[in-house]
Amino acid sequence: MIDTTKLLENKLFQERYIKANIAWYFSYLNGKRGLSRIYKVPYAALMKKFFLQKYFEKRVKNGIIDIPYLELVLTTKCTMRCQSCNNLMQYFSPSNQYSCTLEGIKKSLELLLSKVDSIARVRIIGGEPLLFKDLPQLVDYLDLQKKILTFDILTNATIDFKDELVQRFKKSKKVRKISISDYRQAPNLKIPLKQESILKKLKENKIAFSYNTTDHWYDTEKIYKRGRSKEEIIKNYHHCKMPCVSLMTSEGENLKGKELAPNGAIFVCPISSSLTRLKGLDEFAGDFLNLDDDKERFFEFYTQDFYKACDYCRDFSKPYKKIPIAIQTNKVLKLEKED
Ligand code: SF4
Ligand code: SF4
Repeated sequence: MIDTTKLLENKLFQERYIKANIAWYFSYLNGKRGLSRIYKVPYAALMKKFFLQKYFEKRVKNGIIDIPYLELVLTTKCTMRCQSCNNLMQYFSPSNQYSCTLEGIKKSLELLLSKVDSIARVRIIGGEPLLFKDLPQLVDYLDLQKKILTFDILTNATIDFKDELVQRFKKSKKVRKISISDYRQAPNLKIPLKQESILKKLKENKIAFSYNTTDHWYDTEKIYKRGRSKEEIIKNYHHCKMPCVSLMTSEGENLKGKELAPNGAIFVCPISSSLTRLKGLDEFAGDFLNLDDDKERFFEFYTQDFYKACDYCRDFSKPYKKIPIAIQTNKVLKLEKED
């Protein structure tokens, strides 16, 4: 049996689980953009200040699991090929791509939802999630799940929104926003952007969106096994602490070690989930939460600071190098120091 008193004293657990739950639940309480926020925002602020910490700690003591934030990786296919993609799309070739099916992702989510009591925010990501042909049906499914409180989607705006999808977002009670990455300043873009058309449709249908413009990215640098010691790998995790816990199904013929998580798994971040697709689950045994694991492993996952995947990343104790946004490459990069 897990000692919940010790768990709640664990600094990393407080940061990754309790504080993250407070932040995302606060966002949920703030509600959708609109007039009703006038009374919801002060209420949410009061809850955050006086109640939520105790609320989530009590739920831990009672063995209730609340997932603060979860990214659903629908596919590693993308309409762009950014040399410094944080989700490692630049390392995938047509022969080793991952795409889940609607049935597969529903099966994984059903298993997850049978073990947890809430997921405050789901983010739909890819690659480019609009390449997932059953996206409208997935939106319907997420909307119907009582335990999923809110969701959003991240798109690179290279695929226009079909009317069917716009209507799903319009009627959804849980979608919080469409996050659009603004790649107009990308130096060598090879595909036209559909931003204007998408924004017009979102505005006409009063669907909330955020438009993420930046004039630089931070270089993820080359991803490859550095051969650090366990202590150094742990240190690298602590310097990084990426909060983007992500879920992938175990679909696809080419996944090595799929018996380690036959019904899907949760990973510390999208780099970690993509690495298991490129190298196999067995290479990263111990890094991920097998959805068939018992409930205690869920809590333990949020105290874990040793992930083999963190050996593949740059040294996060050093400053990031600024680079132009979304530089495109034609190459399939290798998980090696030099290509
Ligand atoms: S648009 Fe670029 S950064 Fe975004 S998922 Fe595709 S390749 Fe990665
Ligand atoms: S693999 Fe580890 S170091 Fe790399 S981004 Fe993910 S959490 Fe950070």
